[in-house]
Order: sequence, then C-alpha cells, then structure tokens
Amino acid sequence: MGEERDKRWAGVAIITGASSGIGEAIARNLAPSAKGLIIAARRDDRIHDLASELGDHVIPVECDVQLQNDVTKLATTAMKHFGAIDAIINNAGIARMASMLRCRVEDWDAIIDTNIKGVLYGIAAVLPQMLQQKTGNIINISSEAARRIFLGAGVYCASKHAVRALSEGLGQDLSIRSRKDGNTIKVSTIAPGVVMTEFAESVTHEPTKLDLIKGMESVDEPLSAENIAECVRFILESPIHVEIGEMTVRPVKQNM
Ligand code: NDP
Repeated sequence: MGEERDKRWAGVAIITGASSGIGEAIARNLAPSAKGLIIAARRDDRIHDLASELGDHVIPVECDVQLQNDVTKLATTAMKHFGAIDAIINNAGIARMASMLRCRVEDWDAIIDTNIKGVLYGIAAVLPQMLQQKTGNIINISSEAARRIFLGAGVYCASKHAVRALSEGLGQDLSIRSRKDGNTIKVSTIAPGVVMTEFAESVTHEPTKLDLIKGMESVDEPLSAENIAECVRFILESPIHVEIGEMTVRPVKQNM
C-alpha cells in the first residue's frame, strides 16, 4: 500500500522567493504538471513576467516574507483559486553575511526576519489547511550552513541551523498527531551546497560580497538551480508514506 511514486505531481504549491535562482527554477520545473502555483517575491515585475510565461494556472503575488500578512495572503490566494494547498516551498532567503564584529544589527534583523520568521510565517499560513486536508508537503530550503559554520557568516549559519531545527520539530509534532488522526503531512529540508544564483547580491558589506562571489566561483561545476528544483520534485513525488527529512546536495568538486 502506498508504494507507488506519484509519477507526475499535479498539485497546488506555494513557492516563496520565486523571482530568481532556486525559487524560479522550482516554479519552472513544477509548472508543466501543477494544478496551480502561487509564486511570491518582492520583485513584482519578475514574478509577473514568469507567471505570464508559465501559464494562467501560475499566479504571481507580491510578498515580503518578513510580513506575516503578506505570507498569509499566499495561502488565501491559493485557496481562492484552487481550493487546496498541497505544498509550500519556503525558499526565500538572504545572505547578508559579514563578520559579527561589525555589529550590523540591521543585517542580523533582516536575516532572522527573512530566513527564520519568513519560514515560520509560511508554515503558519498553510498548516491549518493542511491539517484539515490531512495531507501536504512543507519543504524548507536550508543550506550546508545548517550543519557547518562558515567564516564571516555566523548569523546566516544560525538562521539555517534554526530552519533545520524548526523543520525537525514540526516533523515530530506532525508524526505524533499522525498516529492519532492518520494525516500524511510531510516536512522536508533541502540543504544545498554552492548553487550559482544571485544569492551573493544580497550581501551589503562589499568586501564580504566579493569574498563570497570568489568562493562560489572557485567551485568547479557548481550546482544549478534546476538541480535543486529536481530535488523538490523528487520529494513531492515520493510515495505517500515516505517522508524525506533532509536532503543534502552538493557539487562533487566543492571543497569550501
Ligand atoms: P537568489 O538571491 O537568487 O534568490 C533569493 C530569493 O528570495 C529571491 O527570489 C528573492 O526575491 C527572495 N527574497 C529575499 N528576501 C525576500 C523577502 N523579504 N520576501 C520575499 N522574498 C524574498 O538566491 P538563491 O536562489 O540561491 O536562494 C534561495 C534559497 O537558497 C535561500 O534560502 C538561500 O539561503 C538558499 N541557499 C542558496 C545557496 C546558494 O549557493 N545559492 C546555498 C544554500 C542555500 P525578491 O528579492 O524579489 O524578494
């Protein structure tokens, strides 16, 4: 029972941070088979262009994940248009790295509000509906920084450690409930290594940004955003009783 992979995932998904990089690649990957997609980011023009390219079942919603009301709106939009929420991919995230000795509290706030609170708001937006449906996938994009501490990236690493911890905690809460009500809501994290995207652009401290770009460019054959999108599809198409807790994906030749 439940052994079959869902050969062609055809559900309704919300994707945050869909205006570039990994989020955009996830939208492109899922759109051909999805019943509906809500694609979210602050750069409204980009998500509108992407939605027009992908089809009428892809709805762009301007959203700042630091604002709970914006994130809640993603779920209400999905319900209004498609009547269900099968998955959320909490992908929006920023780098804003720099030595902690600089005490740039505004950067620390931005990282925490985007990378941690943004993910929590995403969970809160979809969970009531998923609990009612008794099904759903919550996929949080963490990082290798969820298990390691990179020099000059203390707060970013802390944010990704938090994403791993809260994802595991939610998974435990759901498993306990699942034994009572039979729900199959699954929680996964994907922890990528170096992926060539606009990621470094969010770093405000210029020398740190240049170091990060140099470090990323030093990796021979880095991952593409599409490689991570394929991981999302793999998770969504897993048999109903299979929960992929954490998927770590890195370029074979990465040594940073
Ligand atoms: P990009 O910079 O290309 O994409 C980041 C996305 O997040 C953009 O769409 C951006 O949209 C969105 N975003 C940022 N802040 C907000 C906000 N406040 N509200 C809504 N959306 C926001 O980088 P990646 O695609 O690489 O990053 C995606 C995720 O992958 C991040 O969580 C990152 O930490 C993680 N990751 C990336 C790695 C890499 O090597 N690239 C490695 C490991 C993890 P907009 O600015 O339009 O709002």
